[in-house]
Amino acid sequence: MDESQLQDVLKRICARGQISRAGLAQELDLAPSYVSLIARELLASGSVCESGMAPSRGGRPGRLLQINPQLAHLIGVDIGTVNCRVLVTDFLGQILAFQTFRSQALKGPGPLLGLIHREIEGYRRTFPSIRAIGVAQSGVIERVTGTLLFWPKVRGWQDVPLKALLEREHGLPTIVEDSARTMAVAEQAFGQGQGLQNFVHVMVGTGLGATLFVGGELYIGSSGLAGELGHTTIDENGPLCSCGNRGCLEVYSSGWAIIHRVRTALTDGVTSTLAPALEEHPEELSLEMIVEAGKSGDRLSQTVLSEAAAHLGTALAGMVNVLNPEKIILGGPLPRVAGDTFLDPLLYFLRARAFQRSVSATQVVISQLDEKASALGVVVMLARELLGKLAGPKSPPPPRGGIPAIP
Ligand SMILES: [Zn+2]
Repeated sequence: MDESQLQDVLKRICARGQISRAGLAQELDLAPSYVSLIARELLASGSVCESGMAPSRGGRPGRLLQINPQLAHLIGVDIGTVNCRVLVTDFLGQILAFQTFRSQALKGPGPLLGLIHREIEGYRRTFPSIRAIGVAQSGVIERVTGTLLFWPKVRGWQDVPLKALLEREHGLPTIVEDSARTMAVAEQAFGQGQGLQNFVHVMVGTGLGATLFVGGELYIGSSGLAGELGHTTIDENGPLCSCGNRGCLEVYSSGWAIIHRVRTALTDGVTSTLAPALEEHPEELSLEMIVEAGKSGDRLSQTVLSEAAAHLGTALAGMVNVLNPEKIILGGPLPRVAGDTFLDPLLYFLRARAFQRSVSATQVVISQLDEKASALGVVVMLARELLGKLAGPKSPPPPRGGIPAIP
């Protein structure tokens, strides 16, 4: 049996969710009898299962095929600047367990990794068929080695070999991916990116990053660094950015920038309804507080939020002109918390500055996924990587501990 055709069938089942043998034959231009043969192999290996009946078109109704959700359980870890999230899913991303706790990343990698190890150990006792770990990490990642090279605004995390540390501790294959990118993959799998060919996901949290999908595929660029929208120059003479450049978008429009600008203004004595509450504990200032104050009429909060939205709208106008996407999805804490307060000024500047014909074809929406999106997205990437390795027709479902390494 042709291995590449078998992989094509698996990929198509994975992409469609559920599909009949007749549907596979039609979409892949293969003989129905050959598809039946492949399906028998895949069913025998345990990598796919049958799930209900296809709607009948006059002939005998066929059973639908889908990837077997019990093929393996997977762990997703999202290491964020403020919170860390750990979840367990089946092979199709159905969440079975979830935990969140404060990252306290400024204490360095030791304490946080200790907490993550303990969570994973606990989950492995409850779900013995956990087969692999995916880590979504903010910062700059070296993908092949799974090393966090640099985490902007968080000291003490240079060159942390996350993949090696987790694999040594748990003996499970591990991948490490950029968390803005994994959030976008979750949007494509479960959110408003489903079925789209060309779209952009923009994550606005502590940092700011874009993820591009072209022809339905994730586009990562020649060095894997595509989508660094946050480090687009907005003002050549602007303030220094953590990347070393001046006037980057991230300095104006990220969640960190908004908090920093409001805090600096308060320190400088600018009038604001936020001032009395923060006099004693300025470190408690959060995006939620700024958005709430803005909605209640606080001029400082309104100004900082609308300027952040205006700069992002201007940067996205350039992106619309270059890429002409079907949709821009705004994800991450800031759009989730601020909603239309942020979206309305952003749209005004986007529409004012982009080509009208291009921008009129682009829908701009706020993600409806919650804080689990990044951890869920890395699980989707993990399942895609494992699928080919676990699901060969000659290899039965692997015994516990017998997972092939992920390169
Ligand atoms: Zn920068």
